[in-house]
Amino acid sequence: MMPGTVQTRRRFLRGIAATGAVGLSLPAAPHLAAAQEMPPTPACGDGHASTPAQTPGPYFTPGSPARTDLREAGMAGTPIVLTGFVLTRSCRPIPRALVELWHADDAGAYDNDGFRLRGHQFSDAAGRYRFATIVPGLYPGRTRHFHVRFQAPAEPVLTTQFYFPGEPGNDRDRIFDAALLLDIDPGPPMVGRYDAVLDVA
Ligand code: FE
Repeated sequence: MMPGTVQTRRRFLRGIAATGAVGLSLPAAPHLAAAQEMPPTPACGDGHASTPAQTPGPYFTPGSPARTDLREAGMAGTPIVLTGFVLTRSCRPIPRALVELWHADDAGAYDNDGFRLRGHQFSDAAGRYRFATIVPGLYPGRTRHFHVRFQAPAEPVLTTQFYFPGEPGNDRDRIFDAALLLDIDPGPPMVGRYDAVLDVA
């Protein structure tokens, strides 16, 4: 194909659209829920500061089940998809990174006997993770938050928390960090996005 061919074809199609000519059927745009939530590759600048670490708090339980959906039948709460990329500092997606999530239920309670609202998965080949869960409830002394852990293969664990923009308790929470705010699309379904940057070159 000659170098100018693609450009010429684009101009041709644009001309068709502008004049409203009929008889040319263009393929429909892909319409995939996951594609709407997440682009195929991260948008990157010149590199990133790594995601700040935070305390795991007192309610981490090791050994959570591998799963992508933490919701259970009859569980109260607003559904939310928590998703994002796991990236190196140079913005390279990290496949097969451990991503672990645990959080309070709609009433602000943790399950400290079992694994309700606890789970882990590994980022996909494009470095993406995706949990279906509910918006965590509030409990005394804290603003609304998710607890998360990330670990690239053979690298140290990053433990941190994610927060919700516009939450009234953010200003009163002693450890709230605006660098850990989710990017929220109210949906439905509500989607909270956070691209975690691990301290990996
Ligand atoms: Fe907590």
